[in-house]
Amino acid sequence: MIDFLNLQKINSRFRDEILASIERVFNSGWYISGEENKKFCEDFSKYCKVKHTIGVANGMNALELIIKGYGFKKNDEIIVPANTYIASILAISNNECSPVLVEPDINTYNINPDLIEGKITERTKAIIVVHLYGQAVQMKKIWELAQKYGLKVIEDAAQAHGARYCEKLTGNLGNAAGFSFYPGKNLGCLGDGGAITTSDNQLAEKITALHNYGSFKKYHNLYKGINSRLDEIQAAVLRVRLKYLEQDNARRREISQYYRKNIRNGKIILPTTYNEDAHVWHVFAVRTENREAFQNYLQKQNIQTVIHYPVPPHKQPAYKEWNHLSFPITEQIHREIISLPISPVMTDAEVEEVVKIVNRY
Ligand SMILES: *Cc1c(COP(=O)(O)O)cnc(C)c1O
Repeated sequence: MIDFLNLQKINSRFRDEILASIERVFNSGWYISGEENKKFCEDFSKYCKVKHTIGVANGMNALELIIKGYGFKKNDEIIVPANTYIASILAISNNECSPVLVEPDINTYNINPDLIEGKITERTKAIIVVHLYGQAVQMKKIWELAQKYGLKVIEDAAQAHGARYCEKLTGNLGNAAGFSFYPGKNLGCLGDGGAITTSDNQLAEKITALHNYGSFKKYHNLYKGINSRLDEIQAAVLRVRLKYLEQDNARRREISQYYRKNIRNGKIILPTTYNEDAHVWHVFAVRTENREAFQNYLQKQNIQTVIHYPVPPHKQPAYKEWNHLSFPITEQIHREIISLPISPVMTDAEVEEVVKIVNRY
């Protein structure tokens, strides 16, 4: 069986280093908001070239806290791609703001910058860009619109740690970014984890309080905050994993290049990138008209696949008020997309095997 993603194998490469860092936390007797969190946040700020990183409990909280930190009000509108993972949209709804869905570009699967301006109203406050599947959004036009209309640009960088646009890393492509360190992400820990990056001093200060009950000083509460912190064990694990992120992304890139060069099958549409540096291949998503047949075929040949994602947010029962809407490109993607295995621990033999089997379909 060729696994879609073997997390045990991924972390075992650093077994001794990770276990030593966990032991260090165990022995310290300090388990929340201590040295490990502080050091990881410093390391991550340095890596992304931003002024501040705030460790939080997960990626969705990171996005929620950015929106809360800006103080957007009920019915303020935030633009977001229609084909994103639902967490980007829930982060808006959970703040009682209104998500405004925009269709993606069928070639990049990222938000189509040409369709944004038509959705801007007086109530629009921000644009959430999602670097979907690991590819950094092409920001130029979005920066121009943000400037023109006075909007904040918020990145959902949960799938794109280390991806670059014009030599700048995700996390540093807008006013603030939310990252997830869920175990399966390119930079993952051993449980839930997330972070916010920003170079906005005021926002960073406010979120520092908001994520800790709205308090700067213990038992003194300036805001109605939440409790969302990155715990010490996860921060310690992430300090190890961050050291190998570039190397891991390079291996993903190598596999994707091999796939893109060698998969030759008229029934399969391969992903593309506008620049090799822009993509960290969190997933390798291909499209095919009869997805179920393709997935069953691969399953029989012992290749695991995953669908990112089978149902678009506007067709989910959770958003029944949108169920009647039509986003044809989003719907086409959700109908046709399927992700082949890609991970830094795949062997050359496995990668070659996937190509052979896909070409035989
Ligand atoms: C994983 C993910 C999130 C949410 O992160 P969690 O840590 O699971 O809360 C948000 N947006 C995108 C695009 C994701 O892939």
